[in-house]
Amino acid sequence: MASANTYVAAVDQGTTSTRAMIFDRSGRVVSSEQIEHQQIFPQAGWVEHDAAEIWRNTRRVMAAALASADLKHGDIATCGVTNQRETTLIWDRETGVPIHNAIVWQDTRTNDLCDDLAGDVGTDRYRDRTGLPLSTYFAGPKIRWLLDHVEGARHRAEAGELCFGTMDSWTAWNMTGGRDGGLHITDVTNASRTMLMDLRSLQWDEQICAEMGVPTALLPEIRSSSEVYGPLREHGSLPGVPLAGILGDQQAATFGQACLSPGEAKNTYGTGNFLLLNTGTEPVFSDHGLLTTVCYRIGDQQARYALEGSIAVTGSLVQWLRDNLGLFADAADIETLAAGVDDNGGAYFVPAFSGLFAPRWRPDARGVIVGLTRFVNKGHLARAALEASAFQTREVIEAMQADSGVELSTLKVDGGMVVNDLLMQFQADILDVPVVRPVVNETTALGAAYAAGLAVGYWESEDEIRENWAEHTRWEPRMPAATRDELYAGWNRAVEHSLDLA
Ligand code: ADP
Repeated sequence: MASANTYVAAVDQGTTSTRAMIFDRSGRVVSSEQIEHQQIFPQAGWVEHDAAEIWRNTRRVMAAALASADLKHGDIATCGVTNQRETTLIWDRETGVPIHNAIVWQDTRTNDLCDDLAGDVGTDRYRDRTGLPLSTYFAGPKIRWLLDHVEGARHRAEAGELCFGTMDSWTAWNMTGGRDGGLHITDVTNASRTMLMDLRSLQWDEQICAEMGVPTALLPEIRSSSEVYGPLREHGSLPGVPLAGILGDQQAATFGQACLSPGEAKNTYGTGNFLLLNTGTEPVFSDHGLLTTVCYRIGDQQARYALEGSIAVTGSLVQWLRDNLGLFADAADIETLAAGVDDNGGAYFVPAFSGLFAPRWRPDARGVIVGLTRFVNKGHLARAALEASAFQTREVIEAMQADSGVELSTLKVDGGMVVNDLLMQFQADILDVPVVRPVVNETTALGAAYAAGLAVGYWESEDEIRENWAEHTRWEPRMPAATRDELYAGWNRAVEHSLDLA
């Protein structure tokens, strides 16, 4: 099966862009194309995407990735999909037209709904079954909002005329034929972010669905993360190529980082930060504000679980400084600006734009910059913004160690921000743990490619995936302990101010 000249394709439908990538057997990137899509902010706290635009972009990047490497569909052994998680879409099964823009994971419009659902029981009402606290972050409450606010939607959902999906489902449905027999499926990792799936049975929990007001006729079939789901549509760039891997982006990155044994963890620095620790075949429930989630499931093997620390705003703070304040023109310029000063000048930036996620889960927290004096300049603010990602990561790692008892010996990192050397050095310093990035930084797409390749025998075992992982850069901690403690204490004081605004 694994001919020397075949490759594996992956679509990464991310929060800011959609990417298509092609990998060879060693896991190296052969081709990569990417198109950004519009971020729609209808009002404060709301974030939407145009799903039709995303599907257009998906087709374009797929065709472009093949063309730029001069490949044809016959050169591609299989294709995987990975996606921004929790982002919620409902579309018409007959026409394929969405009933509303997709509601993006960062969107906080379901705040009151979540409060109502929590009632007297509290935000942990569904934690023992779903691993998640009630939060605007997850898909279930977003489905409820759409059914309550789009005219006729509930009735049509009950009649089976509509499909719900996170972006994996939307992408897979379209890629396998759409209106022409497209598969309405999702994988266990994406389903575990809806708050509607039972973590142990890996099936929709009918009681939660009923309480959340979500008709089960709307829901996709839950499949494993790695199996042949079906052939891609005849009219696309990859006609007949088997779609064989689906993983939510953070689980895909965990897979792509070869964190395949219990105790292995990775941290992805993208729009937000997501730290996942593989905990093996048993779900570990958190006492410290972390999520319990499905890490992956290969075919009919037992599911693997993870503890996850999700941070809403890290890279998007860099975008905010660029777009809303015009502090620099390009995301990469933040490093030059920050490198122009020796330290943060006493300034701390808590980017609680969507409240604070892990480990605090305070939707009411708001962003603050504290410690300003006449001395503070653009460079200090740039540095404080970068440092915020590292401080938030330390909070999550402390929570993870407390929950799991696992002491981190190194931190594997990936994502758009890890090209920032200053940030990575500061991360190693503030954790007092070495930080390492792999040669292939596109671990998300790679993870989806691995899942698909394993299903069709392109890669024969997980050992091949482990062997493909190679170190690119290592940052060793070199900050004196007293400085580290002082900085972290400053951060914690700043967070108190962010909570004071609640
Ligand atoms: P996602 O997959 O969430 O869309 P990426 O992994 O592509 O995100 O990372 C993009 C994020 O990284 C953006 O939020 C951007 O602001 C940030 N970013 C890109 N380059 C740099 C850089 N040199 N320094 C700091 N942040 C950066």
